[in-house]
Amino acid sequence: MSQRKAVALISGGLDSLLAARVVMDQGVHVEGINFFTGFCVEGHTHAIRQKDRARPKRNNALWVAEQLGVKLHIVDVIDEYKDVVINPKHGYGAHLNPCLDCKVFMVGKALEWIEANGFDFIITGEVIGQRPKSQRRDTMPVVARESGADDRLLRPLCAHNLPPTLPEREGWVDRAALHGFSGRSRKPQMALAEHYGFQDYAQPAGGCCFLTNEQYSVKLADLWRNRGTKYYELDDIMLLKVGRHLRPRANFKLIVGREEGENRFLEGYRKRFTHLRTLSHGGPLVLLDGTADGEDLELAARLTARFSQGRNADQVTVEVTGTDGHTQVLAVPPMAPEAVRREWYL
Ligand code: SF4
Repeated sequence: MSQRKAVALISGGLDSLLAARVVMDQGVHVEGINFFTGFCVEGHTHAIRQKDRARPKRNNALWVAEQLGVKLHIVDVIDEYKDVVINPKHGYGAHLNPCLDCKVFMVGKALEWIEANGFDFIITGEVIGQRPKSQRRDTMPVVARESGADDRLLRPLCAHNLPPTLPEREGWVDRAALHGFSGRSRKPQMALAEHYGFQDYAQPAGGCCFLTNEQYSVKLADLWRNRGTKYYELDDIMLLKVGRHLRPRANFKLIVGREEGENRFLEGYRKRFTHLRTLSHGGPLVLLDGTADGEDLELAARLTARFSQGRNADQVTVEVTGTDGHTQVLAVPPMAPEAVRREWYL
């Protein structure tokens, strides 16, 4: 019998690492697949922010592939994924994370991939009961059915709790050597990691993307509300990961760099936004997203001064540059801390 081939969905977390390894142990040829949605947490913010500098700037999916010694296919799904985020049939989780629709989508993409590449089945690291909304006993068949993968989807970590799949029935893998993990405890996974000698794996942080993050979801919801549409571009969702976001008026919001790394990142967006910087004192680069007239610009300048080293000065000069390159200089008193309203912060 020729060697069977499986593709493993690799998020970069421990579960997908273990699931792939369990199947590799049975002599199956495994390759990894990772989908880049634009919301992925990896690398991006760690590379920008000073306070995260000490953390490894590694791509966890690549690290997992390296640990396993398998080939990793990174697939850009940014455009197709928009429909999943904007219009999730099964709704959102605690924040704007459409986990169930996301899994259906990713397994569906993996199915297309195995069909195009002559592979036999798909592996995921899902565990029944691990996540309250998307990894329940009743959602497991939903992912298998709606993705079209059906019984070509094998979850090696909780296989004993599910009906036998095609690879098990055909004897491509030995069901007895799979696992029956369930529930929220991470202990069985940690024990299995130790058994295999995996160390330094990414700690489970509640999700594989920014959509599980409350603050991020608040900013995304604000963006949609104020645009009057749920549409987004990659730049929009990247900018939501960076800086302090304040909406002092419905017609504009400010993105304030919190440190050197963020200011440099925001520099790259200067041409697309009206932006402000302090001249008389050191201070952040501030992007203005929306439309602003004279009074709005003065408010924006006073807030920019508030976040600068001139926050205690009587007056700060602020340069405002429009998207047409036209600049004006405003001399303003920094906004008093008590005047910066709590609800402005997103
Ligand atoms: S956390 Fe994000 S990437 Fe992971 S399943 Fe949920 S929506 Fe998808």
